[in-house]
Amino acid sequence: MKQVDIETIAEVVKGSIINKEVLKLDIEYNNVSIDSRTIQKNDIFIPIKGDNFDGHDFILAAYEEGAIVCFTEDKAKIPSDRLGLLVNDTGQALKDFAKYYLSMFKIPVIAVTGSVGKTSCKEMIGSVLSAKYLVHKTSGNFNNEIGLPLTIFKLEEKHQVVILEMGMNHYGELHRLSEIANPDIAVITNIGEAHIEYFGTKDNILKAKSEILDFLKEDGLVILNGDDAYLRKLRDRISFKTLTFGFDDSNDFYIDKYKILGWDGLEGTVKGDNREFDIKINTLGKHMLYNILPGIIIGNHLNMTVTEIEQGACNYKPYKMRMDKIILDNDIVVINDAYNASVDSMKSALETLTNLDTNGRKVAILGDMYEMGERSRDAHSKIGEEAAKKNIDLLICVGKDAKYIFDGAANHGMDKDKILYYETKDNLIGGIDNLVNNKDTIIIKASRGMHLEMIVEKLKSL
Ligand code: ATP
Ligand code: MG
Repeated sequence: MKQVDIETIAEVVKGSIINKEVLKLDIEYNNVSIDSRTIQKNDIFIPIKGDNFDGHDFILAAYEEGAIVCFTEDKAKIPSDRLGLLVNDTGQALKDFAKYYLSMFKIPVIAVTGSVGKTSCKEMIGSVLSAKYLVHKTSGNFNNEIGLPLTIFKLEEKHQVVILEMGMNHYGELHRLSEIANPDIAVITNIGEAHIEYFGTKDNILKAKSEILDFLKEDGLVILNGDDAYLRKLRDRISFKTLTFGFDDSNDFYIDKYKILGWDGLEGTVKGDNREFDIKINTLGKHMLYNILPGIIIGNHLNMTVTEIEQGACNYKPYKMRMDKIILDNDIVVINDAYNASVDSMKSALETLTNLDTNGRKVAILGDMYEMGERSRDAHSKIGEEAAKKNIDLLICVGKDAKYIFDGAANHGMDKDKILYYETKDNLIGGIDNLVNNKDTIIIKASRGMHLEMIVEKLKSL
């Protein structure tokens, strides 16, 4: 990592150095870590207080593993022969330090939020920009007030651009993440119903997502999905330079035409800024075209040629557990989309399955969507209704609220022997060998907490 001397760190986190006399002048920090189990020599350890553990209990272990300095809220936790840094709040110190660390890099900072598609969009921006630049980006889904700082500390001198995914489920979170990042470019993918239990209305969700702009640089660029009515409202009331994207040709960058190539992905032509981009992306589902558009806009904004942008889009590789195609024995194909689920992404998964050219049956295994609150029953039943309209050969509903998916499908005319209900995942796993046929194409999707990837593992072992 880029080196910052201990006095500067102390100043940035408003802390005071403990046992300064033991400081070796020739050390180089290796990394910032919050987990004593993964500490390496010369790491900086910042203990965080979680629901179950207090990182302060692992300060001694961290020194044992090679930590060169530990932050602490309690001076007594630092042995007399070790270098420590006393702060008020280690969680805040992590953020303050990350903010400072990022500010040392004079490179474009891109922040991505939205209800669905953040990770896919972040990955696609990364693919496009990687055709010209050395990119650093959030790894996986490290998008919260811990993950974002840790992502930042992995920035190295060689990087030319950084892409940060930002997630939230309460007011104030994006405000704080935006403050750390001080972005040059902010992308909002869409305003959906994720976390509606807490926020009540989509207008409130819009308000919370808009916090990503709180610390956008004054001359920053906002990139919004212009097919989304809520984001159009936002566009009309902000004064930042804004570009919109979508299928509608009123957007600054839009999908002029596209073709679903089944298992081979998608191809299409994007128009914007008087340029035309012919893209082919290796992913299933028309909705993924939304996620490539911000990458094209940003590539264009950062002076990439049309060919570089097309090449970069083509290099996208699907992420684990997101429309991830796995081929098993007996020509069974699994589309593992068990990473997460919301009404919008469930619908797009069903649509994707319907559009695929398959050799055998189309099977959907759908589980509970969490955090839907009072709307849960309606939302699940709507998914059932949607499934009934599609040509799906077998719908397997699993989980407590998935009962309403079953009911929704049954009440909208889906053949009763094409729908099954299992209250628990274990019951389903126990009997799944009797449900699956050779040549089936099976899509698997639910909220993260359902862990439906265990079904994928079971299918692999059959
Ligand atoms: P998380 O909140 O878990 O971080 P995310 O916003 O990062 O989620 P992804 O992980 O990219 O989203 O995608 C989650 C699911 O949403 C996947 O099933 C994906 O296929 C689907 N999805 C992605 N983009 C869209 C979209 N524009 N419309 C509908 N569904 C989408
Ligand atoms: Mg994500």
